[in-house]
Order: sequence, then structure tokens, then C-alpha cells
Amino acid sequence: AGRRRVATGRGPGRTSDGHPVKLLLNIGSAADLRPPPGAAEIDAEGVGLFRTEFLFLDRREAPGYEEQVAAYEAVFRAAPGGHVVIRTLDAGTDKPLPFLGLPGEANPALGVRGLRVSRLRPQVLDTQLDAIAEAARTSGTEPWVMAPMVTTVSEAAGFAGRARARGIARVGAMVEVPAAALRAARLLEELDFLSIGTNDLSQYTFASDRQHGELADLLDPWQPALLRLVADCAAAGRAAGKPVGVCGEAAADPLLAGVLAGLGVTSLSMSASCVAPVRESLAALSLKRCRENARLALGADDPARARDMIASGR
Ligand code: PEP
Ligand code: MG
Repeated sequence: AGRRRVATGRGPGRTSDGHPVKLLLNIGSAADLRPPPGAAEIDAEGVGLFRTEFLFLDRREAPGYEEQVAAYEAVFRAAPGGHVVIRTLDAGTDKPLPFLGLPGEANPALGVRGLRVSRLRPQVLDTQLDAIAEAARTSGTEPWVMAPMVTTVSEAAGFAGRARARGIARVGAMVEVPAAALRAARLLEELDFLSIGTNDLSQYTFASDRQHGELADLLDPWQPALLRLVADCAAAGRAAGKPVGVCGEAAADPLLAGVLAGLGVTSLSMSASCVAPVRESLAALSLKRCRENARLALGADDPARARDMIASGR
């Protein structure tokens, strides 16, 4: 008898034995939620990363409160299942915003970026949180709200306090800095969920500019040191009973999806075109196999070898 083929075309992310791993979308605006030509709807379980900075780029002045409410509401209404993880403004480094009027920095990747901007310009975050809360009310949805580049517990607690004061019920942080990954369990005492941004987490763990072509081997998401940090965050989430997802490029690698599921990650967020291959790859593996693959990848010294071993079924 041939091997049973699993129906993989549509629907929620599952391993072959039914362990759920939510498949979510990375978007920059409501336009990214239009179904592709020929499709009736977007086939994903929600939005795992709404990058709000696109609303702020190329502007002389910050978008106003009303404009933000309208933009967020459009996404909250259009999201599959009404599920949206919205990220507050991630400015700095590769995304400078002139209207913030921040001083130039010698080393911007290590400077005032992400949530850190709210140290110097608190009003920008406050207006954004007000607009998110209002868009949640008018659309009748309950968005999950997270901050980029959270580094310490006190930053997480400060952000959570400001969000909860506005009635935002689900508050989280991106894990993009090793310091945050090392304190994941403690962060989850302050927060409802974590979302691992592997693009920046790689950059800061391997001391390698994420755009640097010559250093691609160090930025390989199969690097065991990166996977170790992911594993620790996922374990903290399991212990706390709280979701820990991945929303960096690593989540879009179909072969790595099983490894991430095996490490205990509860959702994978990626661009729309990547969802189907990731779903198919997950559906072909049992959770037990995912865990074996995760152990293998964590223990490998060489990411390329780990990938080859897992691709060939060992
Ligand atoms: C990341 O850093 O992995 C991430 C998803 O955020 P961005 O790519 O927008 O920096
Ligand atoms: Mg990032």
C-alpha cells in the first residue's frame, strides 16, 4: 500500500497527526489582504505581523489620529478570522523617519530604533495606541498589539501598561534582541504572547548586518544558536500557556517549519505566497518527527548539514 497522502490544499496549519500550528500573514496594509487573482479569499488563519511603519514612511509629518484609525480599521475588518497581530511603529536604522527629528547616530542598528523611539518621542506611540484602540472598537475586533525591539522586562512592562490603559487586552512583544529571548519567561509574566522576529534576532545574535550579503551563512535561520533562542522562548510560552510565534523570514522556509513546530512554536507568519508550501510541509510530518528534526537541528554544528539531513529524511 502506498503512503497515505494528506489533504494539504487549504485550511489551518496542522502536522500529519493534527497538532495545530497557526499559519498567519505578514502584511504592510489592507491592500495585502486582497485575495490573489482567481482566488475567492486569502487562505490563512489571520495576520501575524501588521507592519505599521509603511503608513509613516516618506512623510513630512506623522499620519494623524484619524488617518491611523482608518488604516488600522481597514486591516482589522479584512483580516481572515478577524485575527490581527499589529506591531507599533518600528522606526530607525533601515527605516528612518524624518518627522521624528531624531539626531543622527554613528551606529543606528544599535541606536534609538523600534520601541526605543518612545523614549524620545512618547507622543507618537501614545497616538498610535489610541488609534489602535479606537479602530478595535469601531471594527468590533480584539487585535493583539506588540512592540518591536523590546529588550528588557521594564520596557515590556511599560509598553503593556500603556496599551492596557487604553483597553487593549492582548499585549505582546517581538523577540528580536537576545536579551529578550534570555528573559522570555519573565517577559511572559508581563505579556500575553511573544513573536520572534528572526531577521533582527539573527542580526543581533550573530553580530551581522541583516542586509550583508557576505555574511549570509551567519544569518542562516538554521544556525543552531538562533534555534536555541527560539527553543527557549517556545518553552517559556508552553510553561506559561501563552502563544509564541515566529514572524521573521525563518517562518517562510517550508523545511524549517517542521523544526519550529518541533521546538514548540505555536504560529508561523509569512507573506501570502509562502503559506501553501509551509502548510504542505507541516502536513507531511508527525509532531514526533518534528521534535526529532528539532533535536537534530539544535544539535548540528553546521546549518547546511542539518538542512540536508532533514531534507533527505536522514
Ligand atoms: C524581524 O526582525 O524578523 C521582523 C519580522 O521584523 P522586520 O523584518 O520588520 O524588522
Ligand atoms: Mg525586526
